[in-house]
Amino acid sequence: MVKTIFIGDVQAGNYDGQEVELMGWVKRSRGSNKIRFIVLRDSTGVIQCVVKRDAVGDDSFEDAKGALIESSIIITGMINVDERADGGHEMVATSVAIVGSVNPEKPFPITESAMQAADGGETEFLLDNRHLYLRTSRMTTMLQVRSTVFGAIHNYFRDLDFTEYQAPNFVAGAVEGGSTLFEVPYFGRKVYLTQSWQLYAEAAMPALERLYTIAPSFRAEKSRTRRHLTEFWHAEMEVAWATNNEIMSHGEGVVRKIASDLIEHRSDELESIGRDLDLVARYADNPYPRMRYDEAVETLQGMGVDIEWGQDLDYSKEKVLTQDFEVPHFLTHYPKIAKPFYHRVDPDEDKYVLCHDLLAPEGYGEIIGGGERTWSEEELLARLDEEGTDREAYQFYIDTRSYGGVPHGGFGLGVDRVCSWLTGADHIREVIPFPRDSRRVSP
Ligand code: ATP
Ligand code: MG
Repeated sequence: MVKTIFIGDVQAGNYDGQEVELMGWVKRSRGSNKIRFIVLRDSTGVIQCVVKRDAVGDDSFEDAKGALIESSIIITGMINVDERADGGHEMVATSVAIVGSVNPEKPFPITESAMQAADGGETEFLLDNRHLYLRTSRMTTMLQVRSTVFGAIHNYFRDLDFTEYQAPNFVAGAVEGGSTLFEVPYFGRKVYLTQSWQLYAEAAMPALERLYTIAPSFRAEKSRTRRHLTEFWHAEMEVAWATNNEIMSHGEGVVRKIASDLIEHRSDELESIGRDLDLVARYADNPYPRMRYDEAVETLQGMGVDIEWGQDLDYSKEKVLTQDFEVPHFLTHYPKIAKPFYHRVDPDEDKYVLCHDLLAPEGYGEIIGGGERTWSEEELLARLDEEGTDREAYQFYIDTRSYGGVPHGGFGLGVDRVCSWLTGADHIREVIPFPRDSRRVSP
């Protein structure tokens, strides 16, 4: 069985007046004992198919009648242009065959009435049925947009001759602080799931100079927010000889490339889920301003937000700060006390580190964290000791500085967060096929 014709091509007008064979799933079905109207869907669209008993014969007609929602079927018929039809085309069937039937005793569970019956528990109901919910038009759209986002990231880095590089997922030490580490039993000892590719990328930096990845990272985030998953997709990059400013230019570059690829390839999909395309185009077309942490704190204090210098900005503060941003903004020069040892201290003012976060507007907040790395061995050891972090787990990392350390840096971008922001989703769960959080690891 080979599928050659997709509904999207039919709706594009490529088969007007021709007889074609369509393979897909029943989205809706209604009619009488003489005529059925089947709305067929595939990955590219929907089309209404008219099935008349007189035209298809009794066997085909009974198949059409028995094809419940989400049955897979093959329909052959003539494609007619019809202004009134959804998508502008309709098929008049000449034969229908069921491929995978649905048991009438166990109909497709996601229906209007089931949603109403869930009565406030719709979210849990849909998460329980995630494996089936993926087929709905909203989720299909999210997955297609997501694929374009991944493609844009790969293309951005590959066009600039970055090497894609993979780090291990089982690790011995933390990157982001111990509280979000997942412990895994490992042949009688404990190891952890990686929180970031960064430390292992820094080891390859003297070999590859420009490297990137898109890989899962794991963090035991206990708090339930609309922007944290326990398993998320992390696009990370590392560049030798680079300054904080150059790394920010890449962050801006990749995010603008994602937005412009979405405008170019996924405008219809974004519109279908109600996204304002002017906003996405604005994020593609305009530069992203840079602001120091101190200025952000003053702005927030001016807005009456309870924040003290030295605190990291949590979501509630980022939300207030970004509410009126027209485009993403970089925040730079965080206080040293707010950041882990690998952030390079600003040689001009040692209470700051040379780092940045990129905050998305519309209240979405942080989508990138990055900066220069502590690159001299002496400084690295001092920072580890100052933090009270045991050197042992980081011996390999310290070693990378002992043999020709150079200034370098990089960033990590939360791919799911970017998808969530650019689609205008209410929750990060909406943009990943099987979201993982503190309560849910199934289906
Ligand atoms: P936050 O303060 O929001 O938890 P973070 O400062 O811990 O973020 P980083 O360690 O800088 O984040 O990670 C780099 C990027 O990875 C973040 O900017 C974000 O886009 C993404 N990210 C981090 N943690 C998560 C998570 N739990 N779920 C989804 N994305 C995440
Ligand atoms: Mg975090």
